[in-house]
Amino acid sequence: MKNLTSMLDIQKADTSKIDQVDFNNLVFGQVFTDHMFECDYKNGSWQTPVIKPYGNLSMPPSARVFHYGQAVFEGMKAYKDQDDQIWLFRPEENFNRINKSSERLAIPEFPKEYFFEGLETLLKMDSAWIQKGFGNSLYIRPFVMATEAGVSASPAGEYKFMIICSPAQAYYSGEVRVKFSEKFSRAADGGVGYAKAAGNYGAQFYPTNLAKEEGFQQIVWTDASTHEYLEEAGTMNVFFRIGDKLVTAPTSDRILDGVTRKSVITLAEDHHIDVEVRRVSVQEILDAAKSGELKEMFGSGTATVINPILGFGFKGEKYELPKIEDSYAKFFKDTLMKIQYNEAEDKFGWRHQVK
Ligand SMILES: *Cc1c(COP(=O)(O)O)cnc(C)c1O
Repeated sequence: MKNLTSMLDIQKADTSKIDQVDFNNLVFGQVFTDHMFECDYKNGSWQTPVIKPYGNLSMPPSARVFHYGQAVFEGMKAYKDQDDQIWLFRPEENFNRINKSSERLAIPEFPKEYFFEGLETLLKMDSAWIQKGFGNSLYIRPFVMATEAGVSASPAGEYKFMIICSPAQAYYSGEVRVKFSEKFSRAADGGVGYAKAAGNYGAQFYPTNLAKEEGFQQIVWTDASTHEYLEEAGTMNVFFRIGDKLVTAPTSDRILDGVTRKSVITLAEDHHIDVEVRRVSVQEILDAAKSGELKEMFGSGTATVINPILGFGFKGEKYELPKIEDSYAKFFKDTLMKIQYNEAEDKFGWRHQVK
């Protein structure tokens, strides 16, 4: 069936899987909705985008993505308010960023109207999967990969852009303590750190496993050349509260320009919280922890919004942060979520309604 009002080809699932899903016991990223969005690139252009039942792909084993990791992705969420209206949070940022990531991986840019038409149609078709209630959401995973057959180490001429969606509950990642990286690096100058390139994440698993053996849940990466400056965590930017001042590293070609990060900075400025965007040295944080000036650390990212960090380790020493009453982490999480769920004024025009 061709949808007459749009450029999309829509193939509806015969039945829904939704009745088999226990929405009170969701494991993050395990269950997917009834439909998915798919658009192929060949002969120099993006073909007619399709929405079809969620299902397996069939690809040649020689497809470039399997050999050279020519793939990028995004992470975003849809929220439902008490009146069943569906909202996205700053989706243009994700759209722009996936194309920025694609450019770095020599993947052709994806057209904006395909992205929004495809995403919004998909969300409306699978809207029953977006559960109401503060903390419930639909995690959205757009991604692009090189599908052309052939193992020559060169950019592919064929790609697939897809969007899949997974219902998510309020994400509680457990207590998070981090290790400041002393040896391993995530990104280097001139590299791909700023892109959500698939390989950036696969390369973190091994060092993170080693950190887990030492009792940490995540690594805060330090700059690759000196390991003296703190950059970001696995899929989160990182903030430090020293006294009542908030400090975070500037974005660069090594650090991902997080949507949550920039929203936190804007909210901090709006609430007259002193915020400094500058390099943060490991030494400064060690000193602040020892003097008691280090009051909080937290990560920011779409999946968890704000994730408090309870302690950190560096060179065999472990540091615990004090318990705090008027936590910035809690303030930013509540403030951001109220905006996301249409429960607070949207002063900055961040909400985008799916109609
Ligand atoms: C996705 C991601 C973030 C967070 O970005 P948001 O837009 O806030 O979700 C931070 N760092 C890295 C490395 C990431 O991949």
